[in-house]
Amino acid sequence: MSVRTVLLPEDVYQYLQASSVREPEVLRRLREVTAPRAESEMQISPEQGQFMALLVRLIGAVRCIEVGTYTGYSALAVALALPQNGKIVACDVSDEWTSVGRPFWREAGVESRIDLRIQPALKTLDELLAAGEQGSYDFAFIDADKGNYYAYFERLLQLVRTGGLIGVDNTLAVSGTTINRKDGPIFQVLRAFNERLHHDERVDLSMVPIGEGLTLLRKR
Ligand code: CA
Repeated sequence: MSVRTVLLPEDVYQYLQASSVREPEVLRRLREVTAPRAESEMQISPEQGQFMALLVRLIGAVRCIEVGTYTGYSALAVALALPQNGKIVACDVSDEWTSVGRPFWREAGVESRIDLRIQPALKTLDELLAAGEQGSYDFAFIDADKGNYYAYFERLLQLVRTGGLIGVDNTLAVSGTTINRKDGPIFQVLRAFNERLHHDERVDLSMVPIGEGLTLLRKR
């Protein structure tokens, strides 16, 4: 739920974009194709995509998981940052939304790195756990239905290796100053989620005010 970083004054945000965003052309076109859609606020912002790509490179991620793919911008941003043998398991329930992104994944030459699973993400994560993939992922990103955030986190914490990173989106959508106010009840859900993470000794954490808030969790 963040087509832009909402926690900055408009002029500062414009400056941030103009002076630092290096959005690849294929990502820009995917964003433009997505923009007219009614639910396009579900797409992450260019600066957030660039930040996640930087994180992926920083930790040398090879195996990634994403919960909530939408039209595939974040999956593409991450896939472009992965090495040749990199993989991202992309979880979504919508064939319609993810179909928008697929041609762009192909055009970017990274379609083979994106393993799209169209079914409830909890089912996919449980399948990965049942397949014995605990501790084998480097990076995970949660950006889907907020009510299941903690359930996704618990599973991803098992799937990610020690020192691996989990990013959780929209974690600062907790007041009336942020966008997407129609989802009133998510405030309480996100506040409760944040409270649990704050005191979770299994992870190091930082809440980064990019987009609508991105919590970074490093597995201890
Ligand atoms: Ca989001």
